[in-house]
Amino acid sequence: MALLREFTAALLDRHGAAVEPIEPEGLEVLAPPPVRAVLDVPEMARLGFGTELPAGARRVGLEGDWLERFGLLLGDRGQWVERQAPPSEVPPPGDAERLLSHGLVLDNAVARFRGQEARWTRCLILAFRYTALSDEKREGLLWLGFNLGTGATLGELVARLRAALAEAPWLPVDPERRARAGPGWDAPVLEARLRPLLAHRVRQELAPFLRAMRRRLERDHGRLYAYHDDLRAQALKKLADLAEVTGDKADADRRRETQRVAAIEQDYRAKLDDLRHNYALNLTVAWVQALEVLVPVQRLALLVRRRKGERLIHLDWHPLARQMEPPPCDWGLGLDRVRQVCDDRLHLTEPAGQAPCPACGKPFCRACHPKTCPRCGAPAAVAVSPSIEDL
Ligand SMILES: [Zn+2]
Ligand SMILES: [Zn+2]
Repeated sequence: MALLREFTAALLDRHGAAVEPIEPEGLEVLAPPPVRAVLDVPEMARLGFGTELPAGARRVGLEGDWLERFGLLLGDRGQWVERQAPPSEVPPPGDAERLLSHGLVLDNAVARFRGQEARWTRCLILAFRYTALSDEKREGLLWLGFNLGTGATLGELVARLRAALAEAPWLPVDPERRARAGPGWDAPVLEARLRPLLAHRVRQELAPFLRAMRRRLERDHGRLYAYHDDLRAQALKKLADLAEVTGDKADADRRRETQRVAAIEQDYRAKLDDLRHNYALNLTVAWVQALEVLVPVQRLALLVRRRKGERLIHLDWHPLARQMEPPPCDWGLGLDRVRQVCDDRLHLTEPAGQAPCPACGKPFCRACHPKTCPRCGAPAAVAVSPSIEDL
């Protein structure tokens, strides 16, 4: 909770409060009226962040509505941030060819190293908050990133870059460096790249939650079924026993048991509806923050050759993360390092992007033909761009 205390102190300080750290893990705050109104605290307040509270302190944590109150105080400040990383002191990688052999696996083409230079590039790191609500609630933050200079999806590099930036001094952006780092993406390009990646990451984050939910649902469904099946079996047995019996009493018993079976079945259906309702998943994903950061990189140039064609591509090695980014990808999420190259335009795609057509069996490039197979016109349906709704 040290981070939350630091954040709270900085936020309150920005809003004109006088803030003093107190122990254990607390803050003493003299808050001006607007802050008091938003945070619902008295003029002199003590806040506690640890398991042990200072005397007279109110507990501040991630649970409860403290985050919402802080959000109100923040307003939309800090939602779009631009900063610059300090120049790198990490020496450039010695053996670029070796790095590339780990950084890019080409299934059906060859690549030749063509050179390396120190550059600045622009990375976009986006934070999203997801909330999944069914019989239980799960919420969290996730970060996604792109290198706008090379087009790479940053994948696990995002966490490393964030960690390195958290340690680095805050530097405003030098306009000349900004210009040299190249332009950003326009909204349609960003959206096209972001949507499938976000859906993939949300699904990944929620997978354990959804698995546990399904287990509970199956357990509850099993119990419900067993209970009603048992009752129904008893009623049916009575009916079977009455099959040979005649007389008014037997007729009345038969009617009663027949009604009972219908009532059990109706009750089961109603309970099933309740269960469905109880376990229905309501998912929201909201954008929280965008960080545009200029970072130093070693840009490696590679010539990709496939049959008679060749194409120059670039991959950045990030000294802040001491890691190579995934290679560019013209189709697919581009998170791993395996690519296939298309014959016509030398697109780099995930292997599924060159897969055979499900209808005619002829392979084709999904970057060249995103909608339909060029040979038979069948939809180029390959599940790579799932929408959030598919969850
Ligand atoms: Zn086809
Ligand atoms: Zn292609």
